[in-house]
Amino acid sequence: MLFLELPNEILWCILHFVPPQDSLVFLKTCKSLYQLKNDELFWRELARHNGIIYLHPNQTWWQLYVSGDLKKTCSHIHSSYRFLNDQIIKQDKCDLFWNTLLLISADSSGYDTNHHQEQKKSNCCQEQKINGICLYPNCQFKGCGDATFAPESNPGHLREHYHATGHTLVLKLSSLHFCELFCYACNKPVGFWGFPSMDKPIGERYLVRRIVQSLMNTLPTDQELKKKVIERRRAIERRLVWSQQSHEDSYIIERKWFMRWNEFLFEKSDQIPDHLTNKTLFKHHDVKELRSDIELGTDFELVGGVVRSYIERVYDIDGPVISAYELQWKPEYRKISESILFRRHIMQRGPQGVPTDL
Ligand SMILES: [Zn+2]
Ligand SMILES: [Zn+2]
Ligand SMILES: [Zn+2]
Repeated sequence: MLFLELPNEILWCILHFVPPQDSLVFLKTCKSLYQLKNDELFWRELARHNGIIYLHPNQTWWQLYVSGDLKKTCSHIHSSYRFLNDQIIKQDKCDLFWNTLLLISADSSGYDTNHHQEQKKSNCCQEQKINGICLYPNCQFKGCGDATFAPESNPGHLREHYHATGHTLVLKLSSLHFCELFCYACNKPVGFWGFPSMDKPIGERYLVRRIVQSLMNTLPTDQELKKKVIERRRAIERRLVWSQQSHEDSYIIERKWFMRWNEFLFEKSDQIPDHLTNKTLFKHHDVKELRSDIELGTDFELVGGVVRSYIERVYDIDGPVISAYELQWKPEYRKISESILFRRHIMQRGPQGVPTDL
């Protein structure tokens, strides 16, 4: 009997014992099995069987499987994503998002252990402690969580809401975790988390980006409300930039875009920058290879991992972002690496050149 004559469920059971990264080697053991590699329907069904019905547009179902991402991907995001295509639901979510944004203070870290002892009996949170909204369609719940939204010991009203309703996904809006998603069913942040977030499932990051951008880039039509929302957004983004230490600045981004962003943040312009491309920093013939003649402060600026992840999920980054560490040992980029080290040295010593820790 040929392997391929077995029902899919049995093949999936066999595959269950093979680590996804080794599955290509496994498939190569038999000619008929190897045909499976190109059978997208088979891998799509396997993904569905695991609750995953979405993937990155540049990915195939086989690639999703062999990358090992299938097991790491949250299966709860797609419903929120789908519902945001519905104009009425999207408008409701946007209203909830804007109103919550205006309630939370820009300097709230989202971490407060006392709040829950005081508020245990109450069903609603003190307005200034609200730092997340439920993403379930038609649900208007907003409430508090803790810094990570994870520890059971300090659950927060958003987690209580999940236990009561089964609504798994929340959008965090505290200033340190602004516009990050957390899934209570998976009990982990989804899309962008940790540093670098690059090795996280690309399909998951893609959907999170779509959700965040669809909320962030839809501004209120009411001019007064719009002004307030933009002001609050600026305050949160400025705080995010300030919370980064200079030694964390290691990602190279186009200075032109960076200046446009600065103009927006510091109220010189109301124009919210478009997505970041970094196009001018790369060699024409190779969009992945950085030019060696670019200069810090003229062609590019540096941002830390948190800011880079923020730009990626809120503004979108089209194309690669190079880390300064990648350039360190390449002679071609010696000048760039030196200027980055020099900048860090100056920053650590403070504006007068006196070490700040003396
Ligand atoms: Zn999940
Ligand atoms: Zn609360
Ligand atoms: Zn809900």
